[in-house]
Amino acid sequence: MIQKDTPELRQSIIDACLWMNSSGLNQGTSGNISIRAAEGILITPSSLPYEETRPEDIILLPGEDLSGDAAGQHRPSSEWKVHADIYDARDDIHSVVHTHSTYATALSMLREDIPSVHYMIGVFGGDSIRCADYAHYGSQQLSDNALIALKDRTACLLGTHGMIACGGDLKQAMWRAGELEALCQQYHLACQLGKPHVLTSQQIKEVRERMETGYGVWPKK
Ligand code: 13P
Ligand code: ZN
Repeated sequence: MIQKDTPELRQSIIDACLWMNSSGLNQGTSGNISIRAAEGILITPSSLPYEETRPEDIILLPGEDLSGDAAGQHRPSSEWKVHADIYDARDDIHSVVHTHSTYATALSMLREDIPSVHYMIGVFGGDSIRCADYAHYGSQQLSDNALIALKDRTACLLGTHGMIACGGDLKQAMWRAGELEALCQQYHLACQLGKPHVLTSQQIKEVRERMETGYGVWPKK
């Protein structure tokens, strides 16, 4: 459901940012969060410490004028184009979370996809987590690369940068970000111990069929 731009909705973005940092999913002013609202895209301001961010600092990028210019004293997140392009391309996504979480970012430095080393990879829509090719932060190329990596998926790594997780709402996007970071940590640890087994495409297909009954969708449909 697409919500209206209210102080409460803006506060929910700030609360999510604070939780993202206190939980270890992000640190400092890295990362950014957006929600697709009725009036346009609500997105965190660029490089403003989350502890200082107030509802009026959250930036509205109106749907009809996506130039990245915004009224007020702050600039929108430098990744506003990535967020806007994802919403443009994907009707199923209403919230985007970008983090520099430690394990996902470490794996992104290898610039390799994550294979299906755990069944939970199924919550991201396929049998792998793709790693988008590297491009400068804030660039159109980064957005283009991210969209390729997100095809039929709800999360990806950004080469030598971090991760993006998407959802039907902010709760679901943040849940996926947490699950992806856990998967990256587990994959890293397994690689220290040996060579992880990779689930077959048939096994992942069965997992995805099971998940289609509503795993990660609240309330149940
Ligand atoms: P912003 O503070 O501009 O959102 O930048 C953080 C970031 O992670 C850029 O990739
Ligand atoms: Zn970033």
